Amino acid sequence: MKQAIGVDIGGGSIRVSLFNEKGEELKSNHKKTPEHLDNDSFLSVLNEAIEPLAKESIGIGVGSPGPLNNETGVLLKSANMIGLNNLPIKSSLEAKFSLPVFYENDANCAALGEAIFGNYKDCESQLILTLGTGIGGGFVSKGKLYSGYLGNGIEIGHTTSVIGGALCGCGVNGCVESYFSTIGLLNRYFEKTNTKLTNAEVFFNLVKNGDLVAKDILEFGTKALAHAVRGAVHLLNPEAVVFVGGITKSYEIFGSALETEIRSTIFPVLNDRLQLGPGGNLSGTLGAASLVFAKEKN
Ligand SMILES: [Zn+2]
Repeated sequence: MKQAIGVDIGGGSIRVSLFNEKGEELKSNHKKTPEHLDNDSFLSVLNEAIEPLAKESIGIGVGSPGPLNNETGVLLKSANMIGLNNLPIKSSLEAKFSLPVFYENDANCAALGEAIFGNYKDCESQLILTLGTGIGGGFVSKGKLYSGYLGNGIEIGHTTSVIGGALCGCGVNGCVESYFSTIGLLNRYFEKTNTKLTNAEVFFNLVKNGDLVAKDILEFGTKALAHAVRGAVHLLNPEAVVFVGGITKSYEIFGSALETEIRSTIFPVLNDRLQLGPGGNLSGTLGAASLVFAKEKN
């Protein structure tokens, strides 16, 4: 059985795993990235992390937050890893390990992993939304990732839900991410109460305990998300819309309202066929490794 390496870069660490074609993790490796980074020091840690697994693999898939250029395989810069600039991930790994290397942003990797190994793997096409710190997205059709020109497409988090609405991290007002993401929910709560919450779990506990402000914010956020999905469904006509990411741990709190709003507002002909629900929350490394498995199939 063929085996592939998945590399998940982000949050000050590098995770590397070796998977077989069934998506079973066979080996893994984890390195913290140095605090004071430059391209060379980062690449040497990356090589060290991959080296022990490279011999058994047919290729390397890499995922990281963007912005990146997926054709040249270059990480342009990273908000979490200051010091990296135009990092040539693909060419340097290909030179070092003599294996094919595929590089996409982490939302695209999550989408492809979910499409190949997740709950809706039997659907012809899947639109996947990653609900976490922000909102990421990916679209897979017939096993192929559609990532847009140079790999920065399906940024559904930065589609507008409320014209002139709350300020988003991207600098524009009213993105859906400002209403339904960890950052969005916590910022809206802070606006109303002057209380800083530490994470999404605390926010959802408030909702469970009947906090009216939190409930209102979630209700509006859920509608904002539903209408962003509505727009995307009308554009792409996917067979399935799948929600993954940290916030989906609380899917039982908002999922039914979200699905009802989406289903009652899209064209009936789309609604009849659309599948909708939470995904399997697969690891970032499996998403990255699926870049290799997808190339094998196509
Ligand atoms: Zn935005």
